[in-house]
Amino acid sequence: MSHVFHRDSRGSPPVAVGGLGIYLVDSQGRSYIDASGGAAVSCLGHGHPEVLSAMAAQAEQLAFAHSSFFTTEVAERLADAIIEQAPAGLDKVYYVSGGSEAVEAALKMTRQYFIEIGRPSKHRFISRLQSYHGNTLGALAVGGNVQRRKPYQPMLMEVSFIDPCFAYHFKRDDESEFEYGQRMADQLETEILRLGADNVAGFIAETVGGATLGAVAAVPGYFKRIREICDRHEVLLILDEVMCGMGRTGTMFACAQEGITGDLITVAKGLGGGYQPIGAVVVSGRIHEAFVRGSGAFMHGHTYLAHAVACSAALAVQTIIKEQHLLERVNETGRYLAAQLEQRFGGHAQIGDIRGRGLFRAVELVADRRTKAALDPALKLHSRVKAEAMRRGLCVYPTGGTIDGVRGDHVLLAPPYITSVAEIDMIVERLGEAVDAALAAALPTRAGSADRTATVT
Ligand code: PLP
Repeated sequence: MSHVFHRDSRGSPPVAVGGLGIYLVDSQGRSYIDASGGAAVSCLGHGHPEVLSAMAAQAEQLAFAHSSFFTTEVAERLADAIIEQAPAGLDKVYYVSGGSEAVEAALKMTRQYFIEIGRPSKHRFISRLQSYHGNTLGALAVGGNVQRRKPYQPMLMEVSFIDPCFAYHFKRDDESEFEYGQRMADQLETEILRLGADNVAGFIAETVGGATLGAVAAVPGYFKRIREICDRHEVLLILDEVMCGMGRTGTMFACAQEGITGDLITVAKGLGGGYQPIGAVVVSGRIHEAFVRGSGAFMHGHTYLAHAVACSAALAVQTIIKEQHLLERVNETGRYLAAQLEQRFGGHAQIGDIRGRGLFRAVELVADRRTKAALDPALKLHSRVKAEAMRRGLCVYPTGGTIDGVRGDHVLLAPPYITSVAEIDMIVERLGEAVDAALAAALPTRAGSADRTATVT
């Protein structure tokens, strides 16, 4: 009997006992390809010897010194390494221990910034539906994932939501991609004007939609328009790159591919690659300067921020990515993965969309490719695919509610940057088998039929 309060309170997952490279091993000796890096975390895979020895060396020298008393060499060096690769204008790194904490800190920093510059009425946040920003109460309040919000709704601060930029489902036939993007971005301006710009502090968006939408990049021009609107109304732009940042989409910061930057960018997951819990808010020099000139202190903080061993793990991960030119590999292997997914699923009756950037890819399941209608949510295709994949020694990250929080299923892939082409072939092969097995079990009467049109909702 386990005393662990597991995510699924009725079950106990397999016991992971080891990991090496892109593989995880359980206590039964079964091995799994970690094709989603957990939830887009393990960017260098498991058991990387250089990361482990950096952590051991740091632990021996100094594991922890509280950040209200000291800084550490390793925290300083990691911040230098992050800023060296950050978009122009970003100059400071505020450390935390994960993605939700990074979002909480970004929200509070945005709010306090406006107090520091004498604009205390600015306090409201605008976000997007179908977003995910974390599970702590502030992060959950700005999250647009209806299922995750539901039980806590009465406890959440008031936030405005605009539509996500999700062309596959929501672009109209009579508009170009560009026009669609402008229309979506303009919703932000409408909402700012409705609330009154003097009341709005920030807009938060995932640069590439991850956990809820499944690797959905915006159409060209969308984020440029968002940036213009934020500037026009003095609203800070918080880009949440907890999942899509740190090289996952092929550039260290995902926003580099949009030709814009955020005023604050949240990162976590790939920062420490799962070797230690660590996240950060990468902040513009202008915002930091307002604190210097104002009260001097950010009214926030956690005990473990800038933890020395966590910083040492992240510094080792980021050094390896840079020295081994792994971003080139993310781009090359990402293109190969996209091509293999296209080959395996491009003509599949129940796969409507194959999308993503770099090693951040997803396939979306549909009942009907032509109408893009979702499969019946009651079939829980995403859970079935996960179980079938694990049965075949493959970890992927499927989610339901892709379209509106209820309808839609997708499978997210985020393999480690070190994944080889041969391993990509194995991932796609096992995923293909898992998807087909899940569909055959869920839609037995249609199994094997070339023009299978499943229950439409
Ligand atoms: N923001 C984004 C975009 C995420 O994808 C996640 C987690 O999936 C979070 C924030 C929350 O991060 P954490 O689970 O580390 O608290």
